[in-house]
Amino acid sequence: MKVFKEAQELQAYLGGYKEKGKEIGYVPTLGALHEGHMSLVRKSKKRSDITVVSIFVNPTQFNEKSDLAKYPRTYEADAKMLKEEGCEVLFYPSVETVYPDGMEHGPELDLKGMDSLLEGAFRPGHFDGVLQVVERLLRLVQPDQLYMGQKDFQQFTLIGHMIRQLQIPTELVVCPIKRESHGLAMSSRNVRLRPQERQDAAIIYKTLNYVHRKFKKDDAKACEAYAMNRFRKAGFRPEYFRIVDGISLLDVKHFTQSDYIVACTAVWIGEVRLIDNKILKKVN
Ligand code: AMP
Repeated sequence: MKVFKEAQELQAYLGGYKEKGKEIGYVPTLGALHEGHMSLVRKSKKRSDITVVSIFVNPTQFNEKSDLAKYPRTYEADAKMLKEEGCEVLFYPSVETVYPDGMEHGPELDLKGMDSLLEGAFRPGHFDGVLQVVERLLRLVQPDQLYMGQKDFQQFTLIGHMIRQLQIPTELVVCPIKRESHGLAMSSRNVRLRPQERQDAAIIYKTLNYVHRKFKKDDAKACEAYAMNRFRKAGFRPEYFRIVDGISLLDVKHFTQSDYIVACTAVWIGEVRLIDNKILKKVN
């Protein structure tokens, strides 16, 4: 596995493959890798010719400095996992490499307010940072395919809009959520849960599954109230539980109202904020 810290060296290396007509698959991450990330790497290895993974803890997407400081950094273990998985290229840039001209400028996009819903309502400016860094990383890596997880539902939705609006010649491939055996969505933040909290966190997925059934007969308000109560009773601090249209991210009231419906939630358990979602309906 080749490791690059500098953009020019990465580009020169990938240029050699591009000249041979090879397709580049790209998995951007914040590091602290787990099986969820690895499922993206595996997908890329299947679909693309060369897999590039980046590890970059992007300062501009953390709306709280303490969250950025506490974000787990496990470079050695990450590099080992990637090597064992057969990842060809690891890009591990510094803040200066990604932001040589400072961190102020981001892409001009018309997101119709979608970046201030759900996660955006509770993490102001978060998606400005995410879109800013992904746009820069895409310009540096110039991949044919970009692999992202359904785990961050709003994130991949907004990045899909950005790719279309900026006409970036990259295909977005969304991969399913990898879960621990009891149902908790894998996340780099899970290591910060106490053992009992980690067990209890299975309630999030159980609730999403229950709502999946309940929403076929009850309206969204009743489902959302049920979920918020269940979380509170478990001692969690839920921020939101919303049933939304998968394209506009606007609230859906009834099961028949849209062909693509997703339940999204964010919950604090102790000191850790977790997000999860489930597609309740998707008619192709
Ligand atoms: P992160 O390092 O948290 O920014 O995640 C990097 C990529 O991995 C994003 O596209 C995430 O959606 C994806 N990802 C994170 N957790 C999971 C998971 N449990 N299952 C599938 N993909 C995931």
